[in-house]
Amino acid sequence: MTRSLSLLRHRLLARCQLVAFALAIFTLCASTARGQGRTIVIDAGHGGHDRGGVPGQRVSEKMMTLDVAQRLRSVLQARGYRVVMTRNSDVFIPLGTRTSIANSYRGATFVSVHFNSASRSGANGIETYYYRRDSGGLAASIHRNVVAIAPTENRGIRRRAYFVLRRTNNPGVLVECGFLTNPTEARYALNPSYRQRLAEAIARGIQRLPSGPNKPLTAGSAASADVLAPTISGPDVVRAAPRVRHYRSSRSKKSARTRSKKSSTPKKKRKRSSSTIIQVDWRPC
Ligand SMILES: [Zn+2]
Repeated sequence: MTRSLSLLRHRLLARCQLVAFALAIFTLCASTARGQGRTIVIDAGHGGHDRGGVPGQRVSEKMMTLDVAQRLRSVLQARGYRVVMTRNSDVFIPLGTRTSIANSYRGATFVSVHFNSASRSGANGIETYYYRRDSGGLAASIHRNVVAIAPTENRGIRRRAYFVLRRTNNPGVLVECGFLTNPTEARYALNPSYRQRLAEAIARGIQRLPSGPNKPLTAGSAASADVLAPTISGPDVVRAAPRVRHYRSSRSKKSARTRSKKSSTPKKKRKRSSSTIIQVDWRPC
């Protein structure tokens, strides 16, 4: 009797060990499967002598972008992604080097992290850029998730030929995480927990996860991003004429001047979506 009880106990113990081993393997596989081995190249905007933003700006953009990028790396690595950073310290990396890094990983996804600035302190909000046609869905997903956690305006998604987006051979997105020249948004950015939330939102966007409960459907709200997202086949989701200065080559500046001339045509001849037009008094940084 004692011997049979001992045998039973031994078998139960063996089964428990087997179940624990299977659970460990499942957890490991699930973690890897979420990232599916995808490579994400994270580009922290600016660095070194390039502070980003506008002259005299109090909050340094280069440090905010680096912090969010490093947080994003941690989140993605924990979810099974392979992460490459274009910079991991306060150093200046030329734009061409950034795209070379991105292009050396075939099939990678490029995500450039920036904060915005403007001469007018009232300018605020989140905006996201893409260039390649195959990047629209990614831009919409990241934008939707970031807007969902940011207590600010939704400035929309735009297609623009910024250097790092145009010269990258893989899908790429540039996200502007708020205006550091806006006192309220600068205060948000200076809060480490807010930067963590930004990083987690970008990560959810990369994973194409739902953004959760949306803000009320009003002009410029988070919910309007959901409305805009399916229409990304056009040239611009949000039509605007920003004064674009950097992240463009001389050729793209020339095409910008051409577009500027076209924009001087009478309004009645231009086809626009009235619900997506916004006033622009800023420049992407
Ligand atoms: Zn910037």
